[in-house]
Amino acid sequence: MALENDKFGGAERVCAMCGAPVPAGFERCRAVFEEVCAREYSDPAFQGVHLLTVDAYALQHSDECGPRSNAFHLMRLCLLLEHDGDPRLGARPPRAQAKAFEHDLRGFPFLTPPSRPGTLTVADVIGAQDSAEHSERVWRWARSVWDAWEPHHAWARETAQRHAR
Ligand SMILES: [Zn+2]
Repeated sequence: MALENDKFGGAERVCAMCGAPVPAGFERCRAVFEEVCAREYSDPAFQGVHLLTVDAYALQHSDECGPRSNAFHLMRLCLLLEHDGDPRLGARPPRAQAKAFEHDLRGFPFLTPPSRPGTLTVADVIGAQDSAEHSERVWRWARSVWDAWEPHHAWARETAQRHAR
């Protein structure tokens, strides 16, 4: 279903990449993501899950975010979900890790996105009543995206393992 298909009056539009129903009042999925990010940038209580938001969105919109970045986002998602990585806005890996990371990045493979993007989308995240609900929604979204990328878990885990400590 194309994004520009507006014959249902807007509310029924579905994002061609992640399958999210684009909420009324938003032009497209990207605008929903930008709204979620704006909340995370402007309110410290919402910043604790920012990197999960970025990785989950990027992995569900690889055409838009650059297919070459799939490997980076999947590996970071693995570090965040399976190695207690820090998903806070502005969180930085230790210096040695960052160096190795940068070195590896150039050799990262192209990972083909899975046929199904995951059961949750950014449309399930927006509109949380408070920061606790927001965090919970983002964690669930990120896990659903991670699960959808199952065909590449072996690569991601192997690569994350080298960067985990
Ligand atoms: Zn989308």
